[in-house]
Amino acid sequence: MFESLSDRLSGVFDKLRGRGALTEADVRAAMREVRVALLEADVALPVVKDFVDKVTERAIGAEVTRSVTPGQQVVKIVHDALIEMLGGTGEALELGVTPPAVIMMVGLQGSGKTTTTAKIAKRLSEKERKKVMMASLDVNRPAAQEQLRILGEQVNVATLPIIAGQQPVDIARRAMQAAKLQGFDVVLLDTAGRLHVDQALMAEMQAVAATTDPHEILLVVDALTGQDAVNVAQSFAGQVELTGVVLTRLDGDARGGASLSMRAVTGKPIKFAGTGEKLDALDAFDPQRVAGRILGMGDVVSLVERAAETIEAEEAEKLAAKMAKGQFDMNDLRSQLMQMKRMGGMGALMGMLPGMGKMQKQAEAAGVNDKTLARLEAVILSMTPKERVKPEIIAAKRKIRIANGAGTTVQEVNKLLKMHQEMANAMKKIRKMGGMGGLMKMMG
Ligand code: GDP
Repeated sequence: MFESLSDRLSGVFDKLRGRGALTEADVRAAMREVRVALLEADVALPVVKDFVDKVTERAIGAEVTRSVTPGQQVVKIVHDALIEMLGGTGEALELGVTPPAVIMMVGLQGSGKTTTTAKIAKRLSEKERKKVMMASLDVNRPAAQEQLRILGEQVNVATLPIIAGQQPVDIARRAMQAAKLQGFDVVLLDTAGRLHVDQALMAEMQAVAATTDPHEILLVVDALTGQDAVNVAQSFAGQVELTGVVLTRLDGDARGGASLSMRAVTGKPIKFAGTGEKLDALDAFDPQRVAGRILGMGDVVSLVERAAETIEAEEAEKLAAKMAKGQFDMNDLRSQLMQMKRMGGMGALMGMLPGMGKMQKQAEAAGVNDKTLARLEAVILSMTPKERVKPEIIAAKRKIRIANGAGTTVQEVNKLLKMHQEMANAMKKIRKMGGMGGLMKMMG
């Protein structure tokens, strides 16, 4: 699916390979090519612009980790930005707690809606051992209900018996009753498609949603239709509370841009990807895997990740050595605060570095949270180098100057000093207990 985009991008990165240092001009030239590659892959213009701006800013400001080249670092930055563009982490179906959970399937005719309904039903019943029922509300297309019944037989999933002439909302109501009476966990409602987005279709969809109060309203779109798929998604999203999108025909050879801009344009997560006509050709949509496939540079990405880990471990060792000597100044505190920010804030911190678990507790006790990290850092930055090494010289006047410099209050400066003091004391204690050995004991 993403082959040509993938080729284009690797061409861009090839040019960066082997360079010792990247200039801003190198980065900008590379990003111009990335931009063209994305546009040619049919990614929506605003999404491309946003992506390129983000990557350029990060790549120019990036600290290049030792032992990787700047080119490799750029690959990693593009990789991470692609994952973000695709929605970060994959999102599973949200089926609530009290059955039956209702999944309403919507989309244009020919998008693959009925097939996808059967694929999801099969997946839920086989993989998650749910008792699943499907019902076709499509009274427009002759034989649509019969099509779903046959699919049901193929995947071994019950379908609501067909009553000729019954209208969609009534069928939906009957499906709900049957599901409750017969103890089904999940009801999949396959609504009628149309050739275009039209008002009658939207009204019918809204009526069914109002009657059944679905846990999920999944829009099925054909990835082969490119930018149109994104436009269709936008029109549907304006009419019903979509909870997710399913992209079909990702096995095709289209340029793939729809899947890349879908999330950003609609704000809705892509939950599944259809990858073939067979009824098991459905994948949970995983942004990490898709980004990996587009870039095809998993080895570079993991190299950069490993290098970053090594650096962190080295920094930690250095800090541990200083701690063992009873030295811990404001520069160390600052690098710890920055470390926390990089690693995703306080929550992600525990147990990652020697002493950090302890430090987190102290920081929390001092009222530090993710939001205040940046402010504390600003306070340290407005100290003079001498003050950073010897914080004990910071008296009242200096405190006022530092507070003003950091755009904060003396109270905040005091808070930081207290936090530092407590940590330095804790480290002295550790030293008395016998250095690192004692430290380990203290951290439990
Ligand atoms: P509906 O009108 O939206 O209900 O569309 P259907 O479910 O009847 O599907 C239309 C055609 O698309 C059928 O021939 C399906 O087999 C095919 N189809 C559905 N999903 C996929 C997919 O992910 N990949 C491929 N290659 N074909 C698909």
